[in-house]
Amino acid sequence: MIETRTNSITLCSFKNLMKQKEICHFVTTRMNGCSLNPYGSLNLGFHVGDDPQAVVENRKQIANSMGIPLSNFITSKQVHGDHIEIISENSRGCGSSDYETAIVATDAMITSVQNICLMVLVADCVPVLFFDVRKKIIGAVHAGWKGTVLRISQKTVMLMKDKFGSSGNDILVGIGPSIGPCCYQVDIATIVKNNNDLKEKGEIVLHEKHDGKGYFDLWATNKLQLIKLGIPEKNIETANICTSCNNSVFYSYRKENGKTGRFGVGIMLNNK
Ligand SMILES: [Zn+2]
Repeated sequence: MIETRTNSITLCSFKNLMKQKEICHFVTTRMNGCSLNPYGSLNLGFHVGDDPQAVVENRKQIANSMGIPLSNFITSKQVHGDHIEIISENSRGCGSSDYETAIVATDAMITSVQNICLMVLVADCVPVLFFDVRKKIIGAVHAGWKGTVLRISQKTVMLMKDKFGSSGNDILVGIGPSIGPCCYQVDIATIVKNNNDLKEKGEIVLHEKHDGKGYFDLWATNKLQLIKLGIPEKNIETANICTSCNNSVFYSYRKENGKTGRFGVGIMLNNK
């Protein structure tokens, strides 16, 4: 990932997506915002108990530094499910400045509409961005362990193929900062209990360390699932940044015992 500072805000970008002039995208951090602890300081989530005015101010800062009106942003009410919403012009601005109007029960969004910024909010879950360079389709996915075992990234690509005729070869992917395999200790039995087929098909990466504890590799699992769908490995960039290890820069739900903010990961198709 590349770090850029604009108007006193630090934003990160994927190298592969940065080269694409038809889109803009960003990964925010928790630095240089106006929220108070435990949300300090650039919290973008309305649903975590922070002062809504502070969240609006923080979102305006991001919008200003990207040069995108906040009214062109779209967010959703994320529920760790696998519903993917195809965003049309009608939804422009939904959830941009409040929680109530956010797209209901949705963890992934795709669109072919220009000047709509799809933004997912995370703190340990993996944000995944998609861009079909040929069909000009973008996608933004929120995948925690539940979304990952539900194969939400794969399902997003399948929908891009079905609705827009995308081909795996043309899709670029950015897998953003999330809790890493270094820190994401899980109960492997629970994870594979209802998802044994994932293990059988080799579409999940769990590390069992010598201490007998299991660690879920969300990055490798999402990547593996996408490669299985025909996206070339060279098209997939992984940030390899653990939110728990880098808690001063990114929010980590687990490291902060659930009382924290959310950083944002967004993508938009520019005007032709
Ligand atoms: Zn870590």
